[in-house]
Amino acid sequence: MNELKGLIDCHTHTHFSPDADAEPVQMVERAIKLGLEAYAITDHCECNRWYGIDYYNAEPNEHDTYGFRNDFDKSLDCVTKLKERYSDKINLICGIELGQATHDFDIADKAVEDKRLDFIIGSMHELPKRPDFCFIKYENYSDSEIDKLLENYFLELLKLCKWGKFDILGHLTYTLRYIEGEYGLKTDISKYDDIIEECFKVIIQNSKGIEVNTSGLRQKYGKPFPDFKYINLYRDLGGEIISLGSDAHRVSDLGKGIAECGELVKRAGFKYLAYFKKHKPEFVRMD
Ligand SMILES: [Zn+2]
Ligand SMILES: [Zn+2]
Repeated sequence: MNELKGLIDCHTHTHFSPDADAEPVQMVERAIKLGLEAYAITDHCECNRWYGIDYYNAEPNEHDTYGFRNDFDKSLDCVTKLKERYSDKINLICGIELGQATHDFDIADKAVEDKRLDFIIGSMHELPKRPDFCFIKYENYSDSEIDKLLENYFLELLKLCKWGKFDILGHLTYTLRYIEGEYGLKTDISKYDDIIEECFKVIIQNSKGIEVNTSGLRQKYGKPFPDFKYINLYRDLGGEIISLGSDAHRVSDLGKGIAECGELVKRAGFKYLAYFKKHKPEFVRMD
């Protein structure tokens, strides 16, 4: 009980995300038990699959789900009601994980305007006309092809940062969850440090933030996304807005790794965590 007092978990999914089945009420009840200072529900909204499959003339496959427009609306509606119902028990935040804004700026621009939203995580799960990084068969890729994939990923993130209509950048090193974690392949992302630095500079200039996504700690990768080196780099460049998120897709993962990553960001020199209400950062001082 109250084991995460003074901390935040600002990246979680419910059954309004196709890859999660958690009941929103149970997530909120769990967040209250953990004593979180702020808690955000951020269901998936993949901008490149906002409409139904027919709209895109796409071949159905085992992975891709379409029609995020509907889930977007249902999630926001549900969380808005829960905010009201639990207003005296928890600081609940109505958020979204906006995927691939760069693939369809018109949809992204429309989604971010929704007045119910407090908070937007900008994420990149796939490159244009490529599968989600979690579905790529990396064993068929040469080292140079993986290098190219990573370079294109970070360039796409830079494009996202320049668009900038999010509050925090989601899981900066998402691709490593699969390439290094699931496939055990070694990479050297320091080759892209120039691009990553540019991303951070744009984020800082626009008064946006980054998240430390703790899910890697409970997965094969074993580190958060991003790891300490990049948390530190962001800080060194003048970054002040930092969020924590478990990326829980089920109730039992809510809050996992948050305490450890709280310590990690303190080590990088941060004294405050940030969460968002109506896109304005609120700061929580860490003890
Ligand atoms: Zn994500
Ligand atoms: Zn997520």
